Amino acid sequence: MIPAITDPAILEGYLRDASNLLGKAEMLFRPRAPGEVAEVMAWCQSRGVPVTVTAKRTSTTGASVPMGGALLSTELLATVHDLDDVDGGVILADYQDHVERAGRFFPPDPTSRHDCSVGGAVACNASGARTFKYGPTRPWIEAAQVVFPTGELRWVDRGTPSPWPVPRWTEPRVKTAAGLFPAGNLLDLVIGSEGLLGVVTRVRTRLIELPPHVLTLLAFFPSRASMLAFLSEARGAGPRCIEYFDCGSLDLIRGRVPEVPAADSALMLEVEHAGEAPLEEWYERLLRHEALADDTIVVEDEGGRAKLHAVRHALPAAVNEIIVRNGVQKVGTDFAVPAERLAEMLELYDQVRLPTACFGHIGDSHLHLNILPANAEELAEARQVYMDLARAAVAMGGTVSGEHGIGRLKRAHLALMVSPEVIDAWRALKRAADPAWICGRGVMFDPA
Ligand SMILES: Cc1cc2nc3c(=O)[nH]c(=O)nc-3n(C[C@H](O)[C@H](O)[C@H](O)COP(=O)(O)OP(=O)(O)OC[C@H]3O[C@@H](n4cnc5c(N)ncnc54)[C@H](O)[C@@H]3O)c2cc1C
Repeated sequence: MIPAITDPAILEGYLRDASNLLGKAEMLFRPRAPGEVAEVMAWCQSRGVPVTVTAKRTSTTGASVPMGGALLSTELLATVHDLDDVDGGVILADYQDHVERAGRFFPPDPTSRHDCSVGGAVACNASGARTFKYGPTRPWIEAAQVVFPTGELRWVDRGTPSPWPVPRWTEPRVKTAAGLFPAGNLLDLVIGSEGLLGVVTRVRTRLIELPPHVLTLLAFFPSRASMLAFLSEARGAGPRCIEYFDCGSLDLIRGRVPEVPAADSALMLEVEHAGEAPLEEWYERLLRHEALADDTIVVEDEGGRAKLHAVRHALPAAVNEIIVRNGVQKVGTDFAVPAERLAEMLELYDQVRLPTACFGHIGDSHLHLNILPANAEELAEARQVYMDLARAAVAMGGTVSGEHGIGRLKRAHLALMVSPEVIDAWRALKRAADPAWICGRGVMFDPA
């Protein structure tokens, strides 16, 4: 078996993820081949050593933070074998650039795609802005090579039945990344299982033709009502994404891009087309709903789109700067609700007394309300508000996590949405798949 790395100076670099939770580990394995992963897993299973699979540690939920035992890093499993055949440790955006150079397209686009791995995206069933049109990572994975917790190494696809009992439960009918997927096949069971059911060492992807042209619009609205009316019509008009920025977010963006106008809110849309940009049609729609037409930013080239994305991606950074300055932790929601309850959820967000910035994937009624506490007292209040909002989202038929998953930090929220019986049934599945419960111990749910 490959040697374990035990140098604390090396281990230190693997003990936190983007949630900033600090963990501990006794050893680190960096396998170069799936067979080496299998040996490590079999060794850990036979000794009951907990293993945390760690990739690029962009998880915001502590899912990749170890709490003792071994770390298994996928960083050296990083080969693109073919256009549709890629190792789990490859950076997602690097893989996408590779296939796009060949005129092909792999749609999943988590905001973190330049930093996260393909295997991490599969393990978390990651989504992004384009999920509005293309769904999350799941439908774009045809097969996966998995090392199961016992050390068994095999390829699985949707024709591979689960050898373990899979509890039937009804997921909320919204975009969701909370809990194990109720599938009878091994591939769908592993996708989104947050490292609990094994290591995804390699995947075969489903690719489509790269859309030839994309029109991007950033439109500003004078009121919530005009934004919602436009959104309702835009959803049916086939854009690939509809992203939202409330006025708190626009204020943060204006700090970096002064020409952003004063407005209630803004929507960013991407529309794929074959040749002539459907600009007139979209302007008519915007005018019908009182958008600030003269301020609308239109981008038709890749460079311009990259700049707009940079503005969008600067938002989490601006939020983080405030949080670091205030010396507290961020409290950011990840709830999605049915489209017909979105306006109601926005009203609840309006009632939060602390400073906030709300943005995200409004096409899927999935927004991130970032609550920005200034001190420890406000942090406690923010956490209480979060719980209340989570209950409200669940009561509306929504989910406690639209994309970031449960990890270590959101288990209490999962319990608001999933019955104790279902969690018990997941425990039985997990025990069957992982007798010594070595993989991701403490992630999503506990052994008892
Ligand atoms: C700024 C920022 C923006 C983000 N935006 C989005 C977004 O838009 N959409 C979204 O869905 N998420 C988003 N995320 C969350 C995160 O980036 C994704 O969940 C990502 O897919 C995690 O990939 P990773 O390689 O960093 O995995 P890690 O963080 O290292 O691991 C995450 C989980 O997956 C498991 N895991 C990782 N690799 C494997 C593997 N090969 N086999 C089995 N299990 C594995 C780990 O054990 C852990 O449980 C964001 C995070 C940040 C910090």
